[in-house]
Amino acid sequence: PPDVEELGRSTWTFLHSVAAYYPSVASEEERRSALKLVESLARLYPCQSCAEALREELKREKAEGGWEEKSLVLGKAVERGVDFRRWLCGIHNEVNERLGKPKFDCSEELLRKRWKDGWDD
Ligand code: FAD
Repeated sequence: PPDVEELGRSTWTFLHSVAAYYPSVASEEERRSALKLVESLARLYPCQSCAEALREELKREKAEGGWEEKSLVLGKAVERGVDFRRWLCGIHNEVNERLGKPKFDCSEELLRKRWKDGWDD
């Protein structure tokens, strides 16, 4: 089986990079693609228990609403780059919490520094 830690780091790098360059207002096709990307991950991610946890999270979110404002569910978040980044940060934090890792600050500024512009020296 794959190295779950290495796989996780690479996958988060990929996902947060996609989000960092996601358009501020996404077209219908981009929205559908982003939705498919996350749903595909929940089906195909090669760590069974991780994929299952993600499926549960997406199900829970559909039933109860997302975090912060209740409106921040994936289907809505894919409309705008700023929301998609925050949504992804939220789901990553859910995993962090499950694994006992520290929570990341999901402000647009910190996300941009970590995943796009780099830290100031
Ligand atoms: P990672 O969590 O891989 O994070 C990489 C970097 O991202 C961090 O160094 C930090 O700079 C940044 N970062 C951290 N949090 C955030 C955030 N909220 N938003 C933006 N950037 C952030 N592992 C398991 O053992 N069990 C699981 O159930 C599990 N489920 C997973 C589900 C998915 C969808 C993915 C992609 C990974 C999953 N993993 C799971 C792997 C796990 O999340 C970590 O990737 C792995 O444990 C390595 O952790 P890390 O400490 O190197 O940092």
